[in-house]
Amino acid sequence: MSWEHFVLGSADPAAVRAAAGDPAGSGLLAACGALLTALGRDPGNVDEDRVRASYPGVQTLRLPGSGLVVTVGELNILPDYFSRPADVAQAPARYLLPILQSVRAWNIRELRRTAGLPPPGRRRLAGALPYPAFGALAEIGEGFQLARLGSRCGIPPWERYPCVVARNAGHFAPFSWYRWQRFHLAARDLIGAAAAVGDHEEREALRTRARVCAGYADHFLQDSFAAGHLINKMQVMQWYAEWLAGSRFPVPDRGQLAALTVRAQPYLHGPGHYRPRPAGDGTDRLLPARDPGTPPVTDPQAALEAATAGERMLGSGVKGNDHSERSVAFARYRTFLASSVAQSAAGVLHGYFNKRSLVVSAGQDGSRYRAWGDWSMLAGAEGAGRAADAAALSRQAITDLLERGETAVSSRKIFELFPDHVEQDGVLLDLPSWHETYLRGRCATDFFRRRSTQLTRAFLTVTFRRLGALDPAG
Ligand SMILES: [Zn+2]
Repeated sequence: MSWEHFVLGSADPAAVRAAAGDPAGSGLLAACGALLTALGRDPGNVDEDRVRASYPGVQTLRLPGSGLVVTVGELNILPDYFSRPADVAQAPARYLLPILQSVRAWNIRELRRTAGLPPPGRRRLAGALPYPAFGALAEIGEGFQLARLGSRCGIPPWERYPCVVARNAGHFAPFSWYRWQRFHLAARDLIGAAAAVGDHEEREALRTRARVCAGYADHFLQDSFAAGHLINKMQVMQWYAEWLAGSRFPVPDRGQLAALTVRAQPYLHGPGHYRPRPAGDGTDRLLPARDPGTPPVTDPQAALEAATAGERMLGSGVKGNDHSERSVAFARYRTFLASSVAQSAAGVLHGYFNKRSLVVSAGQDGSRYRAWGDWSMLAGAEGAGRAADAAALSRQAITDLLERGETAVSSRKIFELFPDHVEQDGVLLDLPSWHETYLRGRCATDFFRRRSTQLTRAFLTVTFRRLGALDPAG
């Protein structure tokens, strides 16, 4: 999902609905492509005033580390490539520019294709990598070329693209809900803190940090509306680990994966996260429900970036009778995340549901609508419109706070828009029930057995078994 983030982060809901009804005729996609082309033409000398005048409603900002100008819609894309808002803000131009220009080039192509326009000329955008022109192989090319770019720029191994992807279970519900909330609320706090600062430069720096944080957050909001992101990535990987353990295939790290079944490690996928409860601290923040004696699970990105070894282990959700058992389980957890084979199963389901869509609702009583996803968002006006509604509200709250210091849009109100039910055979199920009663069986009888899944597994087993060290301790 890339150009979808850009569209959701750039346009208002009415325009998104109109584009879904008529991608070629609405003009939105062509305008988005033209905007990216204008930004990519001379990326070091973007005139912010001119961009805002030519594209009303589009917000821009200058990133402090690189000095590059990006739009908020572009910021919404970047969490697929960077772990934290500060990494986006502080990235040096020699690393960010090739990523930004490649993302622009690829999105220009996809937007034009979706709008029924001919592909752009053959000339590469300044600084872009070659992969956007690879057609069906662009995604594979992206992995290799960005990994190489990272090593060329001296980016630590665990912050290079394949490792960022390995930790990205936080882009899938229910973890994605809290990752949005965490950074959206952090942005609100930063705006509040900026208001108390007298020095103009210092104040503006804080406000920029807030905007980067808010733009980073909205990526996860947008992911939460994509059909392929309603699968619980960790749980699917655990099911696959179990399925592989029962197979006769050669599997790298077989023993370690086999010890990470849902039965052996029931908390890794954040079961309590499906039941948000008020934090009870006077804010409208929601926290995952937690049964007594269970660890405060976080998504793998948050778990592995925690400050101390103890917090990392706790956040992973591994269980064990004593410290040494938990240490062993945590080492396996890291191997599991780095396993390209285990990761590939989630990719199969992600692709399937984005392509096929799901009928969803927010809450048991919410109205049902069809949600599409990566590469297919505009196939349904209602699904795209709901995502755009939530994205617009989130941006509205931040704009209100920046301009007036207050907003009527609570974060709870936005959180409650996230789809958390799926219709299966006419029956509306909450996400955990859908996973248990439908998805699990379908994985065993279909997804894991598919020829394409088997070929990917065999290929990865002999080529790239591990995605790399996932954190400084690795
Ligand atoms: Zn994502």
